[in-house]
Amino acid sequence: MTYTRDDLLALDREDTLAHVRDRFILPDGEIYLDGNSLGPLPRSTAEKLHDVVHRQWGHDQIRAWNKYRWIHLPRELGDRIGRLIGARPGEVVVGDSTSVNLFKAIAAGLRLRPDRRVIVSEINDFPSDLYIAQGLVDLLGDQYQLRLAESGGLDDMLDDTVAVVSLTHVNYRTGRMHDLAAVTSQVHRQGAIMLWDLSHSAGSLSIRLDDAGVDLACGCGYKFLNGGPGAPAFVYAAERWHDQLSQPLTGWLGHARPFDFVPEYQPADGVGRMICGTPPILSMTALDAGLSAFDGVEMADVREKSIRQGQLFLELVDQECGGHGFSLRSPEDPHQRGSQVCLGHAEGYRIIQALIARGVIGDFRAPDVLRFGITPLYLRYTDIWDAVAHLRAVMETRAWDDDQFIRKELVT
Ligand SMILES: *Cc1c(COP(=O)(O)O)cnc(C)c1O
Repeated sequence: MTYTRDDLLALDREDTLAHVRDRFILPDGEIYLDGNSLGPLPRSTAEKLHDVVHRQWGHDQIRAWNKYRWIHLPRELGDRIGRLIGARPGEVVVGDSTSVNLFKAIAAGLRLRPDRRVIVSEINDFPSDLYIAQGLVDLLGDQYQLRLAESGGLDDMLDDTVAVVSLTHVNYRTGRMHDLAAVTSQVHRQGAIMLWDLSHSAGSLSIRLDDAGVDLACGCGYKFLNGGPGAPAFVYAAERWHDQLSQPLTGWLGHARPFDFVPEYQPADGVGRMICGTPPILSMTALDAGLSAFDGVEMADVREKSIRQGQLFLELVDQECGGHGFSLRSPEDPHQRGSQVCLGHAEGYRIIQALIARGVIGDFRAPDVLRFGITPLYLRYTDIWDAVAHLRAVMETRAWDDDQFIRKELVT
């Protein structure tokens, strides 16, 4: 079928998530398709931060740790993220960055399989995940090794030497998504520990870690969770492992009784032992606001809208931009795709820059991928239409073919 803008307007009118858009501050005249990289500003963030800065910190100073439960924020925010990823209360804590949580989680996984020495990951995974695994292997020495599978090549890598399989659920560059439950079962059949990086999944997909039997997971706070630039990340450990769980960054706030100030480390109960040092309260407050944008929202509805918007985007690119040399870089089947769509084009970088100049904010991943995040909390169906209309205009007028779009900034 051929779509018109009115068709998408009709979808907006019946969209049961439409009201959630008002929970965000979105600049007029812009279409934000980069919420998978940095979520936009929730409306409540500035007010919450103002309160924490002026009243809690400014007025109550050190007393605020108890009075406003600051000390409990890592677990409280963890439980709220848990609801979004199918975890029980007490299985998730918030703190540190995704990279640091990966370090702790891979190490914890290795300790759960002390007779094995191999970590398996994927060569096309997000580089930080690979660098962290390699760094840990280098630190451990003693025949530990990192084995990297090509995409789809996991089967050949698994044997009874593998301790931990660490994979990103949704690939950052292509949006390709693993079957979380099936891969977890496959890894368990080989006796290994399954660690998922949910950086591109939390807040965008309907996933159930407990039901899938996942062992460990971590993920990002500043992407679909809208926690602000550099927001603290989260880490999950299935309850069945809590008694045996241990990780090497044994900071004082992962201790059972930090204010006893004893010289010997004794891990806190449960997932609390994944905490290291003092929580960054200002950043946690911004993440709190980001999570509030999910109040009353069911992830199944978010996923359904995301699939519909992603499909429409691709169908409209076909309809409006056929003949302009775009190829599809994310899987065609929406059930194998996370919440982003990716196009390949030799002039990808300049095309994205020309779109940004027109207020359509996507991003670029080397060597030639145009990436568009689909974020149903605030994206309207008409935004999808308008974004593709801009893409068509950029191609038809060759607006991208301009010297101002050649120079690459450090952050693409
Ligand atoms: C965004 C992202 C990260 C980022 O890690 P930081 O420590 O926050 O810089 C790591 N891994 C994956 C898969 C990501 O998507």
